[in-house]
Amino acid sequence: MRIGRTLSPAAAPIYIKDILSGLKGLIKGSKEIDRFEHELKEYYNVKHCFLVSSGKAALTIILRALHELHPDRNEVIIPAFTCYSVPSAILKSGLKIKLCDVNPETLDFDFYQLKKIITQSSSDNLKKSSILAVIPTHLFGLPSNVEQIEKIVAEHEISIIEDAAQSMGGVLNGIKLGTQGDVGFFSLGRGKAFSTVEGGIIITNNEGIAERIIKQMNDIPAYKMLDVIRLVIFSIVLTIFMKPSFFWIPKSLPFLRLGQTLFEPDFLIKKISLFQAGITRGWQKKIKLLIEVRREHINSFCTNRFNSIVKIQSSKLPPSLLRFPIKIKNKKMLDTILYKSEKRGLGIMKAYPKSINNIKELKDYFKSNTYPNATMVSRQLLTLPVHHFLSFSDEIQIKLLINNELGL
Ligand SMILES: *Cc1c(COP(=O)(O)O)cnc(C)c1O
Repeated sequence: MRIGRTLSPAAAPIYIKDILSGLKGLIKGSKEIDRFEHELKEYYNVKHCFLVSSGKAALTIILRALHELHPDRNEVIIPAFTCYSVPSAILKSGLKIKLCDVNPETLDFDFYQLKKIITQSSSDNLKKSSILAVIPTHLFGLPSNVEQIEKIVAEHEISIIEDAAQSMGGVLNGIKLGTQGDVGFFSLGRGKAFSTVEGGIIITNNEGIAERIIKQMNDIPAYKMLDVIRLVIFSIVLTIFMKPSFFWIPKSLPFLRLGQTLFEPDFLIKKISLFQAGITRGWQKKIKLLIEVRREHINSFCTNRFNSIVKIQSSKLPPSLLRFPIKIKNKKMLDTILYKSEKRGLGIMKAYPKSINNIKELKDYFKSNTYPNATMVSRQLLTLPVHHFLSFSDEIQIKLLINNELGL
């Protein structure tokens, strides 16, 4: 266990000022939520926006809405390497998970396989596909090629749900991430681009989907008083303990299970609280600043000779990543890097420990299907922190550690 300066792998700051805005929100009442909704609609240029308790809650609501529109379809295609919350939400909504392997060079879908899955699904059932939706995912903020996916699903009436959980504020070729699919969602959780302790956002221009979501929202409970108090306390704890000088304390408490990726298919769905809505005051400016700070570290890591997933064309800015993904092929080197990072508090981590088909709780679900690229990525991928707490000296230490181990 390390005592002393320790970085978290990802972090979105909640300042004392934000907590005060949150408390003011409690007094201001429902117009605080209206304000945030209105700002989101304007920023994303969408007609409909819904605010809930998490990204997985948002996805569950979206899936239920789509299933109401297409009751004869019950399969949802996701990348075989993604956040464990995604399969959780699919099971929670009563639908079936269908995996597609990833391209190890981009972490996006293997488009060849995606095409094959979709064509097969419609030929099996006399031209009527059983697939309800595909979920392109901007993992770590790396933009998925949604345009390509649109082409693949065209003529199959399959909906596109854009998982922009990790990419709020991200842009690709002038298009805001989250706005390309039929419906998109963001997470306001702790390790995301912008945080309200927990929270989720749904955006869409699709009237049919919006109508079904509005119907569901009427039955979704609000946070109870006690839950709000818990959120307030937790926001204060986060403000203190996410700082590198204190982060070693919660990290050393095993019952907090920080840094573990858990599969939890049972979760509550609530409407966002006034406290969370209050925290979002000034979110556009905050996201912009955080992106600028991260960009410096991203640029610097881009110029190193890591085996990086991030391929930048010389004329373009790199994407606004939340974590910087690199691949280490040699397992012994990877383990040494992780071990030394742990000892030095550098925040280098595995992204997700397993591909979705290898999650223990889902062992029987995917039968003998294999997803070799996702499995390989789960073994080889490490992420470097790029958040605002990272100092220039941390950055140099991270580069030195990796370059030394790899002999670069
Ligand atoms: C975090 C995340 C989610 C779920 O968001 P929560 O707010 O944690 O429920 C979904 N997809 C991806 C890619 C994520 O990173």
